[in-house]
Amino acid sequence: MLYFVFTVDGDWSQYYDPALSEEKRRPSLQKLVDYVKEEIKVTEALKGKFVHFIHTSPRARDFFLRREFVTLFRQIMDFQGSLGIHCHEDDPRKEYFYSDQKRMREVIGFFCEALSENRLKASAYRGGYLAFSPLTIPVLEENHIFLDFSCEPGRYLMHGSNLVSDWRGAPDNFYRLDYQDHRRRGSSNVFEIPVGIYVENLSLAKIQSKAKKLKKRAENSNIIVSVLTHSFNFGNFFERRKIVKALKILKQYGTFINAEEAHSKIVEEEKR
Ligand SMILES: [Zn+2]
Repeated sequence: MLYFVFTVDGDWSQYYDPALSEEKRRPSLQKLVDYVKEEIKVTEALKGKFVHFIHTSPRARDFFLRREFVTLFRQIMDFQGSLGIHCHEDDPRKEYFYSDQKRMREVIGFFCEALSENRLKASAYRGGYLAFSPLTIPVLEENHIFLDFSCEPGRYLMHGSNLVSDWRGAPDNFYRLDYQDHRRRGSSNVFEIPVGIYVENLSLAKIQSKAKKLKKRAENSNIIVSVLTHSFNFGNFFERRKIVKALKILKQYGTFINAEEAHSKIVEEEKR
């Protein structure tokens, strides 16, 4: 069987641009609220099953904990969707803190606690720029997050002399993460679900041919991969239409599930 988890990283496009003034890089409340509302509308076609990854970063540490978002996040959960944390522990193009375990522990701990105070729960994690350090694995375990979605097999992202994200040699189906090396199968309690379809980076024709190949591979074993896009695309008519079309294509090849369902399927699979 082929399973897809549709995932939306809760970013706005100005975040990444170091050429903009501090003021312009800040998120707009109205825009971001509208993006999330569109996500909810579009994912009705998936019976609400998707993961919204809540952005947190030094620039917008608790912006998404505002009442307006909490209401929408609760709606996502009520509609069978899932929530995740999307930690951009970086200053784009300047500094990256993904390997600073103390810092990651503070940030993830703070955010999980804040969510739970609002009766929300994060069941998944994804690093900004798909960055990930194995030092984050115990931190996720401590916070009862047992799914990571940061892997894009083969990814090797450098910004100048900084290595931001390295997934060379990683498996292209779900696996249990290794405490020493996040690109290897191991014995931690956190499972990796790799990116299978990166919507922005692929044409619709390419999305279809990738889905076909995945479906072929899934004849003999269960495959679970994520479908990745970003919140800001929901604010653009053409991008949103592409997402709608992509989901329609993918539904012909696989079944969309939420994070909790993905976790139980993997646990079941391991028992076999
Ligand atoms: Zn991001």
